[in-house]
Amino acid sequence: MCPACGRPELGEAGPCLACRDTPPVWTAAASLGPYDGALRDLILLLKMGKRDELAFPLAHLLVGTWRRRGWPLPDAVIPAPMHWWRRWRRGFNQAELLTGALATLLRAPMRPLLRRHGGSPQVGRSRSERLRLPSGGFSTRRPVHGSILLVDDVLTTGATAAACTRALVRSGAAEVRILTLARTPDPRSLA
Ligand SMILES: [Zn+2]
Repeated sequence: MCPACGRPELGEAGPCLACRDTPPVWTAAASLGPYDGALRDLILLLKMGKRDELAFPLAHLLVGTWRRRGWPLPDAVIPAPMHWWRRWRRGFNQAELLTGALATLLRAPMRPLLRRHGGSPQVGRSRSERLRLPSGGFSTRRPVHGSILLVDDVLTTGATAAACTRALVRSGAAEVRILTLARTPDPRSLA
């Protein structure tokens, strides 16, 4: 896997071509696997079905990924924020649920500090819209420090993760690593 974006990369050591061309703003990113098959079904269950009991098993798998990548113990584990109306409609933030379980397993503090301003969720939008959308629409409620582990369910275009990373760095983070359950193919590789 590419150490910078977490995309599967065959026969290469070091960052993939896309990351060498345009290095991501975060320190590193990793996922359990592609947004496909059983993993996709589990994420949809976690998101839509209110299956909270999935949070710990999935967090266990994330700890495995975190360990295999040799990442440092984070100073804070932070869930990606959800747009307020989605949270209101669904009643919970699955990223927060997952992050809480992960933080417990890592014995690191969970800090839901990121907040999103305005904008719209990515669901139902075209790829070009999603690529354009989140432009610094995030901030943190309090200053942060040290090494941050940002957790989300799916890494899609990376635009949200990049905007969150910028907000965290602005607020004092020294490094930000992105850990997601799944990732969709890198849009740069499909262009
Ligand atoms: Zn890469």
